[in-house]
Amino acid sequence: MLQGYGVLLGVLLGVLAGLAAGKAWERYRFVDGRWQDRRRLRQSPHFILGLNYLVAGQADLAIEELERASRIDPDALEIRLVLGNLYREKGQVGRAVQEHQALLQRPRLKRIEHANVLVCLGLDYRRGGFVDRAVAAFSEVLKLDPKNEAALVNLEKLQEDQHQWQEAYVTRQRLAQIAGPPEEPRSQLILAFLENEMGLQTLKQGDLAGAARRFDAAIELDRRVLPAFIHLGDVRLRQGDVPAAIEIWERAIDAAPDRAYLALERLEDAYARSGMETRFAELCRRLTAAAPREWRARLALARHLGAKGQTGRALDLLFEALEHNPHALAIHQAIWNRLSALDLPRHLVARYVETTRQSVFYLDPHVCVRCRYRSTELLWQCPHCHEWNSFVEDRIAPATDTEAEIPSGVPT
Ligand SMILES: [Zn+2]
Repeated sequence: MLQGYGVLLGVLLGVLAGLAAGKAWERYRFVDGRWQDRRRLRQSPHFILGLNYLVAGQADLAIEELERASRIDPDALEIRLVLGNLYREKGQVGRAVQEHQALLQRPRLKRIEHANVLVCLGLDYRRGGFVDRAVAAFSEVLKLDPKNEAALVNLEKLQEDQHQWQEAYVTRQRLAQIAGPPEEPRSQLILAFLENEMGLQTLKQGDLAGAARRFDAAIELDRRVLPAFIHLGDVRLRQGDVPAAIEIWERAIDAAPDRAYLALERLEDAYARSGMETRFAELCRRLTAAAPREWRARLALARHLGAKGQTGRALDLLFEALEHNPHALAIHQAIWNRLSALDLPRHLVARYVETTRQSVFYLDPHVCVRCRYRSTELLWQCPHCHEWNSFVEDRIAPATDTEAEIPSGVPT
């Protein structure tokens, strides 16, 4: 029994000793050959205040407090690092570079600290437009820390900016390997878009077969890379293989029915060349039936029928399209063309005025779901946040009140 108490007491003392050691460790740290009291920094309100201002987005006040905290503990690398980043975010790139370069001069910098400072310096250079220096900084980081994702992501964007698609592809492969399965779908999509860009480059050099292989590879990587379908069809057409072009454009519509319009005009022409006149109207009707709000298929069919002299049917389709998308200028123009051809019949003009009365019009219907950047045309990569495939069509409420939902989310 006594022995039992002895053991218990020993354990208790051990725990207390451990706690004391832990406290001491927590309080002091060994820096540059001397013990430093961390509490000094923690007890100064400036560090916490600085962080609070940082979170609240008040950069100037954060800088003020962090500068004070840094004067109390001049050795604290993180504070100077954050201060440099704040100067960069405020647009003071030169000062940020100075701050971060000074940190690199510190003696006995750990490998990982060195890499972290270099990432910040690379971001400074990137912000300042010094592309070569930014690339050099991020490459240096990767020598110190080959799995540094921040360096890889920035390097990838710099390579994309310079249209170095092959290099960006290799960088993305490295990122995909590090991130593992959860990030795989995103990486596949990016690789597919990069492959498509390489195809376009190959096409510019006049190598049709080589370009076709690239576009095929892009589709193989990810079926969401719609431009690869479109371009592959264009290549097949240039190679004189109309049936193959039709096949690939029809596959494009299957892969992304909401963007079918990108292939419609091409298909109309290809069907006509192949003597399959009725197939285009069938396709448009099928698309409209599958997605009642689809206005471009209606517009395309209206043009098609109008050209064949079926003006009444064409106008019906255009009014339907207008009800779904009152902001599409193309529909208004098509309607006025038809109305003019009919010498402006009073009842049809009245119908047009009635349909458009309640509508609000605006420009730039395409919007990036990531950063809300707006664009008049559909872009495959956002020029603002550099995300791939992030644009959806923003719509105002339909002229009829039957459908109220507003599209949101990333296209699939
Ligand atoms: Zn964006």
